Amino acid sequence: MSSNVPDLSALHALGPAQQPTYADRAAVDETVARLRTMPPLVFAGECDDLKTKLAAVARGEAFLLQGGDCAETLSGVTADNVRNKLRVLLQMAVVLTYAASVPVVKVGRLAGQYAKPRSSDLETRDGVTLPAYRGDAVNGYDFTPESRVHDPARLLDVYNASAATLNLVRAFTTGGYADLRQVHAWNTDFVRDSPAGQRYEKVAHEIERAMAFIAAIGADPDEFHRVDFHSSHEALVLEYEHAMTRIDSRTQQPYDVSGHFVWIGERTRQLDNAHVELLSHIRNPIGVKLGPTTSADDALALADKLNPDNEPGRLTFITRFGASRIRDGLPHLVEKITAEGINVAWVCDPMHGNTFEASSGYKTRAFDAVIEEVQGFFDVHHGLGTWPGGVHVELTGDDVTECVGGSEELLEMDLGNRYESVCDPRLNRVQSLELAFLVAEMLRR
Ligand code: PEP
Ligand code: MN
Repeated sequence: MSSNVPDLSALHALGPAQQPTYADRAAVDETVARLRTMPPLVFAGECDDLKTKLAAVARGEAFLLQGGDCAETLSGVTADNVRNKLRVLLQMAVVLTYAASVPVVKVGRLAGQYAKPRSSDLETRDGVTLPAYRGDAVNGYDFTPESRVHDPARLLDVYNASAATLNLVRAFTTGGYADLRQVHAWNTDFVRDSPAGQRYEKVAHEIERAMAFIAAIGADPDEFHRVDFHSSHEALVLEYEHAMTRIDSRTQQPYDVSGHFVWIGERTRQLDNAHVELLSHIRNPIGVKLGPTTSADDALALADKLNPDNEPGRLTFITRFGASRIRDGLPHLVEKITAEGINVAWVCDPMHGNTFEASSGYKTRAFDAVIEEVQGFFDVHHGLGTWPGGVHVELTGDDVTECVGGSEELLEMDLGNRYESVCDPRLNRVQSLELAFLVAEMLRR
């Protein structure tokens, strides 16, 4: 690669956090060399389109829905799994679009979300200590010494799994499956069949009437038949992200073509860190997670380093304070960034500040706390006259039991019934749809 993107060894010299420890450097070099020859998963022009859409979010003229697994798994790349995730996201997007009366920018946490930062390098079970699971990009979830070895060959598996996922997503979103009438019919089923659904009957009915009106006047817009959908993941493993960073032939600018949007996590957002350095050079739209310890000066410095030209749509701040801290913690960040005239999209991740361990040992989140954080986010922005630009959620289209609460009133004792996440707990299908209807109410006030 040319341009001014630092080489991999320069990034490693910055002492990056949360990286795999590979034993066989030659095997790493071989994998990276192979990855560099692989075709792009996304086009730079698509990244630019998303950036334009996110600029509208930053201006208050669009809303972002970003969601998917905490950690995708290689074995989870099946038609059913990808379809269910996509379906629930599309269902949520219809409700939000109607409520917000602005475009909803749809971004999946998928086709690349395979690497996880961990609070500890090691995990102990029943007196046995092994390396922690760091996502399928790095090692296996099985609790055995062989599976927990950091294996660079997995990066190629991740590339292939991401390609397969994205291929299916592109087929679903442009090949008729995402037809608005179809998606609305699924929502009508949800409203009819779920106990909580009745509460949302009115909105569903209004959407029905709006669609009937459009059909009655003889309009059949292209947007009824296809949707724009984008991929995203945390840019964590430097070998992978660097190998997928390419110079775009159109613009001669570097893009990370492993996904449309990549973000830096709460644990790797230090200003002098390798992740901030790498992402400062790519031209994709990017995000940074901001937790409760973020000072306004930290946010300003990040904006300055990652978006020195103050390009709208380039930078999204994804705040994850926790329900109990957002009302106190968020205002000073938003005030300072706004006062400085900095263009960012503000997005709420109501998941990561609300995780706790149930007495059974399962990591979980309470649906009410998730909603409470989103409500706090809306209240803060409404109070300041700024735009609550979107939500970033961990969810699945399946009927898992990982988060407690919601209209199904899942209890801690239910968690073991169907707990499938290999990392953080996700909202299930019903909880995700409910969240969309509740956020719709917040958008309409
Ligand atoms: C995540 O998004 O799964 C994650 C690890 O988030 P954060 O960096 O905000 O903790
Ligand atoms: Mn997570």
